[in-house]
Amino acid sequence: VTSLLDVKLRKDQPKNSLWNVEALYPNLESWQKELATFSAPSKPHFPQIAKFKGRLAESPQVLREALDALNESARQCDKLYTFAHLKHDEETTDDTYKGAYQKIMSLAYLFGEEVSWFDPEIISLDQKTFDLFIKAPELEPYRFYLEKAYRQKPHTLSEDQEELLALSSQALSTSSKAFSSLNNSDLEFGEVENGKGELQPLTHGSYGLFLRSPDRVLRRNAYEKMYTTFQGVENTMGDLLYGQVQKHLFNSKARKYSSPLEAALFPKNIPLSVYHSLIQAVRAKLPSLHRYMEIRKKQLGVSELHHYDLYAPLLPDMEINMSYQEAEDVVIESVAPLGKEYQSILAKGMREERWVDQFENKHKRSGAYSSGCYDSHPYILMNYKGILRDVFTLAHEAGHSMHSYLSHHNQSYQDSHYPIFVAEVASTFNEELLGHLLMERTTDPKERLFLVNEKIEDIRATLFRQTMFAEFELKIHEMCQQGEPLTPARMKEIYKELNRDYFGPAVCEDPFIEVEWARIPHFYYNFYVYQYATGISAALSLSKKVISGDEKARDDYLKFLKAGGSLFPIDLLKLAGIDMTSPQPVIEAIDVFDSLIQEFENLT
Ligand SMILES: [Zn+2]
Repeated sequence: VTSLLDVKLRKDQPKNSLWNVEALYPNLESWQKELATFSAPSKPHFPQIAKFKGRLAESPQVLREALDALNESARQCDKLYTFAHLKHDEETTDDTYKGAYQKIMSLAYLFGEEVSWFDPEIISLDQKTFDLFIKAPELEPYRFYLEKAYRQKPHTLSEDQEELLALSSQALSTSSKAFSSLNNSDLEFGEVENGKGELQPLTHGSYGLFLRSPDRVLRRNAYEKMYTTFQGVENTMGDLLYGQVQKHLFNSKARKYSSPLEAALFPKNIPLSVYHSLIQAVRAKLPSLHRYMEIRKKQLGVSELHHYDLYAPLLPDMEINMSYQEAEDVVIESVAPLGKEYQSILAKGMREERWVDQFENKHKRSGAYSSGCYDSHPYILMNYKGILRDVFTLAHEAGHSMHSYLSHHNQSYQDSHYPIFVAEVASTFNEELLGHLLMERTTDPKERLFLVNEKIEDIRATLFRQTMFAEFELKIHEMCQQGEPLTPARMKEIYKELNRDYFGPAVCEDPFIEVEWARIPHFYYNFYVYQYATGISAALSLSKKVISGDEKARDDYLKFLKAGGSLFPIDLLKLAGIDMTSPQPVIEAIDVFDSLIQEFENLT
């Protein structure tokens, strides 16, 4: 942990380590100039779009002009937003860019509000008109956009019913807001003692670090304190989660879906079988996870493996360090299996076009991300410190950035936003390529063991853990739909059984873990977490083929990246040769997990 005093000021960082946001607008003045052209000072703020209101059904030509106007403004808004948000993140305390950021955020909100009539007006077209319009050559570039909007028709209600639903949405968000206030602000966890008897403050942030500590006393104390606190509010937490599930049920019934799961998956055209076959495939392979728990117990040398031992490092004294330069080189080298074109775009982006903001500086936003828009470079924010995790993060974000780059260069603006369901495929894929190269390169058996272990942990946390969450989420929604009582006691029971099934006999059961659901914010996201599990599964099974030198697999994968958001997610993955409606990709991913465990056992 570095103290804030060790962190440099932004102006003292070497220029070539900073991202080139000026490629977007050379300075604030030119940004402000463009901002001034973006909206009119009084209503309608976007007259170029407002003038089409009530006219979309006139002719394909009119609809085309309206769509052009809408997309042109949205694209400009993205560009203005990107500049302000990147500059704001460079130094979050800077008042100038804080102001610029707030300005564009409120304009973006205004834009959304003022064009909110647009999709409903498309949906209100009668079937005959829509069928006619969709075949018109003028609307060819917007065919998929229109299809996506129009498929909501059977679940769209009359105008006054829609108004009523919109009115209810504020009140229905109370559960998730109250959860977030309780979890982020009101709950306090106090202090915990480490193995040396020193007191350390326990927060959500430090909890993660403490559970990864080699100090078992600290791990146990942090774990017990965290869950004791949640046990103290389990009735409230149970009611809040119940309220959220009721909200999903209400919306799905109002919109005439057969279940909340269907309501969540329908807009993206994801078949329910994707969700069910994920759970089914992971369940069938749970013995693999059980076996890993046995190995973990043996390797840690403990007589009882507790839940607070699940993140403890198996090789506590091991770390691989790299300078940023070395990391950049190895990330670029690792993408060689994707071909020369892919590799040279990334190399040019990182080395010449300065996509990456490399190091921490005072008041810079923490963490890492890939961002940007249709008219900008794909920018990467890093806080690079030099440990192996950072190198993987760089590879991960570069994967997102290349996906954006290829999508933006091959698709129109309206078809360029790739859906969340496929986003983590491109990033995880590049982590796989990096892991493969590092393993190929190393001659040190201990280093190899460390790399193998990192990969095992990644798959465990992303594939197994998120599927367990997905199963819990499904179960509580089904119970609610069937009118079964959903008390905290019942939630704990379900959670206990899930933990028993997933972790197997090597892990001790304790009453603390039963209340874990109470602290997971993702249960308020409406069937979100399963996408982490499907994403890593697709990435593992694809990267395995590409690494093995399968040229068709590589070309198909590149087609998928270039397709951006021009198809529904399941069809995008079909381009890459993956059928997510079958359990096959998940089974293949767990086969990778199995072979890693085997290798870990052989090496120890
Ligand atoms: Zn990501």
